[in-house]
Amino acid sequence: MKMERILPYARKLLQKAVSQGDIVVDATLGNGHDTVFLADLVGESGHVFGFDVQVQAVQAAQQRLKQQGLLERATLFHAGHEKSAELIPAAYHSKITGAIFNLGYLPGSDKTIVTRPETTVTAIEQLLELMAPEGIIVLVIYHGHEGGAIERDALLEYCHSLDQNLAHVLQYQFINQKNNPPFIVAIEKK
Ligand code: SAM
Repeated sequence: MKMERILPYARKLLQKAVSQGDIVVDATLGNGHDTVFLADLVGESGHVFGFDVQVQAVQAAQQRLKQQGLLERATLFHAGHEKSAELIPAAYHSKITGAIFNLGYLPGSDKTIVTRPETTVTAIEQLLELMAPEGIIVLVIYHGHEGGAIERDALLEYCHSLDQNLAHVLQYQFINQKNNPPFIVAIEKK
């Protein structure tokens, strides 16, 4: 397939927004794949702030960063992303240029621990406020699991309602694939 698949496209969007030395957020650490990608992207002078409500996810992300020699480029919080404004030190706020939310549950883990619409929207609102202009928030929306469709619909409603004077909002999705494949909503702060 020549068209960009969902996960590579999510990363491409972040590559467009983020430069070496920037501050970025991995809002859902999981196994830390995105954390390592972001730590690489921001370089030695940049920093990644990461969040997850599961201690095993924080540890897995930490381990993955360590293996790649990137541990010093990240601060990982065992806390929900809805605490972004509180936990990311104020000195970094206006330097945030990218954030990724990989929604749903952690593969191979407890499927009842999923991201929730209220906390996801709260975190997006906070990050939009904190971010630098032209910063991009990428949401990878998984919606096949229990509760996934509710989160999808709430997020789409919220994103549709975002004032076009404040943000550009993109939806990138294959519309003829079966089994609820994930899709992207990206929000670029104006
Ligand atoms: N990006 C990850 C990776 O590369 O492996 C996968 C993330 S997984 C799909 C979703 C993660 O979101 C789970 O690890 C889950 O514990 C976490 N999560 C659920 N609610 C959260 C919240 N309020 N704040 C931060 N993380 C949350």
